[in-house]
Amino acid sequence: MFTKPRGTRDILPEENLKRRRAEAIIRECFESFGYGEIATPTFEHLELITAKSGEEIVEHLYAFQDKSGRKLALRPELTAPVMRAYYEAMQKKPKPVRLYYIANCFRYERPQSGRYREFTQAGVELIGSDTPEAEAEVLILAHTTLKKLGLRDFSIEIGHIGILRELLSRAGVEEQNRVLTLIDKGEIKEVEKYLGEQGVEKSWIEKLLAVISLRGGVDVLDKAEEIAEVKLDRFREMLTFLSRAGVEFTVNLGIARGLDYYTGMVFEIYAPKLGAEKQICGGGTYSLAEIFGHNKEATCGFAFGFDRLLLALEKDEVNLLTGEKRAAYIIPVKPEFLAEAFEVARILRERIPCTLEVNRRKLKKALSHASKQGFTHAILVGEEFRAGRVVFRDLIKREQSEVELKEVVNML
Ligand code: AMP
Repeated sequence: MFTKPRGTRDILPEENLKRRRAEAIIRECFESFGYGEIATPTFEHLELITAKSGEEIVEHLYAFQDKSGRKLALRPELTAPVMRAYYEAMQKKPKPVRLYYIANCFRYERPQSGRYREFTQAGVELIGSDTPEAEAEVLILAHTTLKKLGLRDFSIEIGHIGILRELLSRAGVEEQNRVLTLIDKGEIKEVEKYLGEQGVEKSWIEKLLAVISLRGGVDVLDKAEEIAEVKLDRFREMLTFLSRAGVEFTVNLGIARGLDYYTGMVFEIYAPKLGAEKQICGGGTYSLAEIFGHNKEATCGFAFGFDRLLLALEKDEVNLLTGEKRAAYIIPVKPEFLAEAFEVARILRERIPCTLEVNRRKLKKALSHASKQGFTHAILVGEEFRAGRVVFRDLIKREQSEVELKEVVNML
């Protein structure tokens, strides 16, 4: 017997119906903010991925060589591919450029609930606006999308990696990513130890630890400004826009998001009911331009973990499949009426979804099969069809009547 590869899933029809519905809501939301869809290849040059995420990423990649010896990798995320496409084809467009994607990603990770080796991300990139309003827009879009999907239990936590980088620079720490990764993982003791080993003065370490422990409302910014001796006017302005737009959030200066390319505001969204894998979204302001060898270009964006989002909606008991199934089950009462049944199906399918009995079950068995499959109505095709009539049966009320075929559409 063959089984699916570890960390992958088969998504069955009922689940796919929900996924398609959720995807439609997300698409509609992203497009309503003026974002256009971009699709990039499933695999990219390995260097594109390592340029962005460093060589350490390789152990988490599905990397391979093609028959011509090109080093390639299945995309582990979409930001680098989207920015690559931007520089290749859209750089001359008026700013900002608003792009979105819904696509599968691949990471060689230890699988667990909500963590897979193939998963889907739905995200946006806003390219070419170096303003607090651009950052606010991206956050408002994430918030609006979750609301439109009907998710109730979630929290938005916003940090600022710029403050942490500034502090680390002043403390003379060059290898900042190591520290940021530790902060991201919540390994605070390790941060202290590492900085101590690097010979960083105790007062700087204390300042950094004080800043990353700050969590709360906008007033947290005053404390951060005092401790770190930085001005956070832009960050404060962005938070004001969010409040005006009705976005509830918590400021959490301990959010570091590990990776090298974030430069300013960063955020994460959690669905607490998901437990360990509760992070359903991550994003912020970043700069990949320098890594790609271009002039600085302000960019911000986010990615929802689409599979986790669906798990979160399920935990919140959101029913994505509202509206009764308007579909009919067509049964030829005897095999000799099969041809007529095909004709009925052809006519009805112009208006409603129809499923045809193709197993030659006897009428009674066919009706019970249709009920079990969740159909609410059956159309029986027999002798009457010679006069353009069929038997319309309500499978719930167990009532039936003979009607003109053209009337059926109005009865469902
Ligand atoms: P990242 O690109 O790591 O910032 O991830 C963005 C979002 O994708 C996260 O918040 C998760 O919801 C989701 N995600 C990341 N890795 C996985 C995975 N292995 N399986 C499922 N979802 C994931």
